[in-house]
Amino acid sequence: MGRKVPDVVVFRLAAYRRALRELPAGAGRVSSKTLAALTGYSAAQIRKDLSLFGQFGQPGVGYSVPELEAALVRIFGLEGERRVALVGVGNLGAALLAYRGFRESGFRIVAAFDVDPRKVGSTVAGVRVRHVADLERVVRGKRVELAVITVPAAAAQEVADAAVRGGVRGILNFAPAVVRVPDGVLLRNVDLGAELERLSCLVNLRGED
Ligand code: NAD
Repeated sequence: MGRKVPDVVVFRLAAYRRALRELPAGAGRVSSKTLAALTGYSAAQIRKDLSLFGQFGQPGVGYSVPELEAALVRIFGLEGERRVALVGVGNLGAALLAYRGFRESGFRIVAAFDVDPRKVGSTVAGVRVRHVADLERVVRGKRVELAVITVPAAAAQEVADAAVRGGVRGILNFAPAVVRVPDGVLLRNVDLGAELERLSCLVNLRGED
């Protein structure tokens, strides 16, 4: 899809996908009101967001769940599985490797890398850990599209560079480092500390009501 969709909308679309998974198995239709209850966004907002991508609903009848699911999968580019590599199989990396939810969302971690000789050659959550020296070659060979970086900050840039040389199109970086990527590669930084800060601020402001 060539068009630009604002980040906030993408964020809400992801919430709608998650909400659909919470519906009872086999649910045929869902109203924007139910989606609102499941996501916390208003029904009007949901209708507006979804109308950007086509006609999935009928007034009074709601959305067809299978059609909406298929449309969201298409919008997210998840028709096939998205192949992911994870670099840095430490505390965080190992926890992410073991997380089953990625598979349900359409992501498959097909390769993991580390430098520690005690980890290289082992298998974590069913994924073989390879030496990071093989990162570029393996990422290219397995047509990996996304890389998750969970190495110490000092190693983040070199790991990102190798992943980019291997052909990844997006990087999710957990390391507290400024990572640079060339145009054409997308970078998202995850910072749970900053999230906590925001949450704390909101809790604080609410307390002053
Ligand atoms: P860890 O020390 O347990 O794991 C780091 C792993 O990276 C180790 O297995 C190490 O051998 C490996 N490694 C080191 N250099 C490497 C290289 N060049 N190539 C490949 N692997 C390499 O650390 P952790 O607790 O798992 O944290 C990992 C990273 O995530 C750190 O940068 C940490 O600051 C960050 N972190 C971020 C958040 C967040 O919210 N963004 C939260 C927790 C941790």
